Parts: sequence; structure tokens; C-alpha cells
Amino acid sequence: MPEYDVIVAGLGAMGSATTYHLTRNGRRVLGLDRFQPPHQFGSSHGLTRIIREAYFEHPLYVPLVQRAYELWGDLEKKSGRQLLLQTGGVMVGPPEGMLVSGSKRSAEEHKLAHQILSAAELRQRFPVFQPADNMVAVWEPRAGILFPELAVQTHLELAAKSGAALRFNEPVLRWEPMPDGVRVFTAAGAYTAGRLLLSIGAWLSTLTPDLNLPLRVERQVLYWFEPRAHLELFQPRNCPVYLWENAPNQFFYGFPDLGDGVKVAVHHQGETTHPDSVRREVDDGETEAMRELLRRFLPTADGPLKSTVVCIYTNTPDEHFILDRHPVHQQVLIASPCSGHGFKFSAAIGEIAATLLQDKSPPFDLSLFELQRFRER
Ligand SMILES: Cc1cc2nc3c(=O)[nH]c(=O)nc-3n(C[C@H](O)[C@H](O)[C@H](O)COP(=O)(O)OP(=O)(O)OC[C@H]3O[C@@H](n4cnc5c(N)ncnc54)[C@H](O)[C@@H]3O)c2cc1C
Repeated sequence: MPEYDVIVAGLGAMGSATTYHLTRNGRRVLGLDRFQPPHQFGSSHGLTRIIREAYFEHPLYVPLVQRAYELWGDLEKKSGRQLLLQTGGVMVGPPEGMLVSGSKRSAEEHKLAHQILSAAELRQRFPVFQPADNMVAVWEPRAGILFPELAVQTHLELAAKSGAALRFNEPVLRWEPMPDGVRVFTAAGAYTAGRLLLSIGAWLSTLTPDLNLPLRVERQVLYWFEPRAHLELFQPRNCPVYLWENAPNQFFYGFPDLGDGVKVAVHHQGETTHPDSVRREVDDGETEAMRELLRRFLPTADGPLKSTVVCIYTNTPDEHFILDRHPVHQQVLIASPCSGHGFKFSAAIGEIAATLLQDKSPPFDLSLFELQRFRER
């Protein structure tokens, strides 16, 4: 008889949420992490994450994010903490670009509340934005901001209260299948469980070398600038979250000023790295490239640089997630590689992963996230 029902390896966004849902279902769970989450070494730090519903990446994500909205709300009620700040959001770019056309497609297919704003309407409604005349925006009222460190901490605290055993600074070194589950090895010893979740984000390939997954870990820089004018217009009531297609398939995004400055970042276009040797310093050339975008599209945000932080994406070739059972060892589930857009879903992915780990079927189409697609390549 294994000691635990489930071992969760990796207690970041996905692992913390899964541990929470499993313990709510009365499962005996051991959670193990390389560090002590929330921490700054993975993919779930930097104070804020965007949540948006008119999903340009694919309409299949919409039901998932809608479930995530419900679960973030539940978690707020259970914890008494604010985890989501609704600001509305704009997806800005040329009408034929993938951001605007994809957001519109999802909004129309799922009948989401939205509006299309011309460049002039966007400038008038949110004067900090200065789009080019050929750009339009998809406005969606439900978009907003999640607080990732607080969300991870909240999932873990509530899971621990419900009986999860959490062991930090204890990385999983390897695992092996057993007839009735898995055995997991750390420097402190070995543990057994009926099921194993691998939610180790950027480190996934280290525990799945047999799968030869085509993952690319990508360095990303977050910047906080002090606006040089119109501070009031950067407050959340005047400034929604935004994603901007500034050149074909090139994006940057940002947030209103929540007291730390205006946070902005380029989406992708970062150097390939390894999670154990990420370059944490930010050089002047990178900052200048970010400023150039601000000068073009949000000129008054281009004030003094307040701070920077480096984070990492784990990308699949098609930028869809991985949420699937190990092809040979079905007692092992993989929930990670979210290609830089997974945080908003983590509440729902945690619930779905917990369902799968209890051998039940979640009511969502997960076909985009199957491992099979890599074997077909
Ligand atoms: C800069 C940046 C901006 C982003 N912006 C957004 C956004 O606006 N909206 C959005 O929805 N998403 C966004 N994302 C993506 C989102 O944050 C990630 O998809 C998500 O946080 C990944 O969660 P995870 O659980 O897979 O990884 P992590 O949260 O990194 O968790 C992995 C955990 O595994 C642990 N671990 C590693 N190896 C081992 C081991 N051997 N044993 C035990 N534990 C181990 C690590 O210590 C870590 O705690 C962004 C990501 C970045 C980097």
C-alpha cells in the first residue's frame, strides 16, 4: 500500500493548485519542491499576471479560463484575500494580425462581451495608449490582474490546512514506476504513492528524459517604469491591462500602476536558457529596446526605470500546454509547460489535474494539450 495517494513534484502555479484540489477531495498528498514557493527562480513571480477571456491563442481555452474565473473567486472567498483585480483589457494591433483577429474569433464564438475600438476611440478612452492609425483594439471587460505569488501561497496554505504534507527545498531526483504506483527519490529518502504529478515547469525535461520533449526555456525580462507624466491615467481605474501586437507576431504587454510603477514586458523574443543558469542581470540595450516600444505606443510611461526582474517561459513548439498522462506510465501525469500564458488557468488546471489523478474525466476538451502531438511531428 503506497504511503500517499498522490505525490506532487513541483509546487508552483500548477502543483500548488492541484495539491489544493486533491486535499479538498480528501486525498493523502505529499508535495515536494526544489525551492520554497512562492520564489523567484521559476515562472510564477513578478507580482502580476494578466487574465483575459477572449483568448486569441485558440477558442478552446475559453471554457477553461471561464472555469478558472469561478475558481479564483472561490479561492478568494475561502481565503479572504483579493487574488484578482478586474481592470478590463485591450488587445491592440492591426485588424488582420493574430492578436486582434484571434481575440475577436474567441469573443464571437463564445459570445463574450467585447467591443472593437478604432485607434481614435482607444486614444480617447484610455489616453495613455497611442496606437498607430492602422491599429484597432478588442476591449474585454472581464480581463484583469492576478497576483501570482499570493495565489501560489494561498493554494499551498489551504492545502496544508487540509492535510497536505509539503516539503520544501527537497527536489525530486528521480522516480520509478511500481506495480501499484510510483516511488520517488529525493536526497532525504524515498516516498511511494499511487499517482505522481510532474508539475516542475521549466525543469520538466530533467524528470522525463525518456520522452525527449521539444521544450525551449526562454528568458523574459519584466520592467517597472515610473511614468513621466499623467500618473493618474495609469491608475487601474483609467488603465486596463493590455497586449499589443507591435509588429507581425511580436507582442508586448503591460499593467496599470499598482504602486510599484508601470509594469511592461515583451512577450517571447528572449534568449534560450536553462532554469539552473538563467542570466538574471538586465543590460542597458534590453531596457532601451523596451523604452523604444513605450516611446511609440505609451510615451508617458517612458520615465525612470524603477526595477526589473527576470522570469522564464517554458515553450512547446505550438505554444499550447502539456496536460497529459505519461505515455508508458499512466500513473504519472504531466501538467506544465505553459509557454508563457498558463498562470490564469492554474486554478482550473489544478482542478482538472486533480480529477485526472483520481482517474475521473474532467468536462473539458484537452486535445490541444496531448503529448501525442509531439510524436506526430
Ligand atoms: C515573465 C512572465 C510573464 C507571464 N505572464 C503571464 C500572464 O500575464 N498571464 C498568464 O496567464 N501567464 C503568464 N505567464 C505564464 C505563467 O506564469 C506560467 O505558465 C506559470 O506560472 C507556470 O507554472 P508552473 O507551475 O508550470 O511552473 P512554476 O510555477 O515555475 O513551478 C514549477 C515548480 O517546480 C519546482 N521544481 C523544479 N524542479 C523540481 C524537482 N526536481 N523537484 C521538485 N520541485 C521542482 C520549482 O521550484 C517550481 O516551484 C508568464 C510567465 C512569465 C515567466
